[in-house]
Amino acid sequence: MDKLPLDLPDFKPGWVWLVGGGPGDAGLLTLYALHALRSADVLIYDALVGDDVLKLAREGCVLEYAGKRGGKPSSKQADISQRLVQLAREGKRVLRLKGGDPFVFGRGGEEALALVEANVPFRVVPGISSGIGGLAYAGIPVTHRDCNSAVTFLTGHNASGIVPDNINWAGLAQGSPVIVIYMAIKHLGDIAQKLMANGRSKDEPVGIVSRASTPAQKVLETTLGTCVEDVAKSGIEPPALVVVGEVVRLRAGLDWMGAIEGRVLTSDPLGLKTQSGKVASA
Ligand code: SAH
Repeated sequence: MDKLPLDLPDFKPGWVWLVGGGPGDAGLLTLYALHALRSADVLIYDALVGDDVLKLAREGCVLEYAGKRGGKPSSKQADISQRLVQLAREGKRVLRLKGGDPFVFGRGGEEALALVEANVPFRVVPGISSGIGGLAYAGIPVTHRDCNSAVTFLTGHNASGIVPDNINWAGLAQGSPVIVIYMAIKHLGDIAQKLMANGRSKDEPVGIVSRASTPAQKVLETTLGTCVEDVAKSGIEPPALVVVGEVVRLRAGLDWMGAIEGRVLTSDPLGLKTQSGKVASA
């Protein structure tokens, strides 16, 4: 890459940079993330960070895995935070790289607070969260003027692995036209049931996007009433995002990745022009 006419701050020894790695496609990294990858002494990464991103690390940078893979139990959060502190105190440039954005269901806040407690200096580099950028790779915008002026990001399970019970499901179902759910596959049936019990239609469109922005990306379009069955039939697997709402219909017009493969897109995916045409001629 050409040298950019841009001065990024030095990655100083003894510092931790808490960096978002985006949803998967290495091209979605920020310039800060790339700079950190090219400067770090140690890189501590999660399961959601792909090999293409790791390949960008400086030669000689030590890679340490801190996630769950191949059936091994995940490192405990306290252990990870302690490790960051220890490496920083050894005078290393420590890059803590997380999938998506570190502050979106990423426990980045917890790690940063542990650094504050230990008096370790740090910088936070936001990343493109999968719930926005990953859905964009499936041709689904999280807001669209004709569909919604609010969106909610929800986690499908809490720290104990169950559907969060501190959610006002009635408020959510009635107040948020679009709901983007992280970590939702395991409890999808329960979540869909709660939304329908609180007024959402069984016919409401649902999009499920697994491994978004990677070559293994899969997208399933379904409905609240049939999503559990359809997920089981399709074999779609985590990591996946679930998006509930009319914006899912826009995929018929905005599936730009499909278009690269020859899909023909429609410029009126919501049928608005057709509808007004009908009204006019009635
Ligand atoms: N900090 C991350 C989210 C971590 S929680 C972010 O901002 O994206 C982990 C969940 O994120 C997964 O269970 C899944 O729901 C979602 N996720 C992360 N990367 C994904 C991807 N490439 N494709 C689909 N879902 C993804």
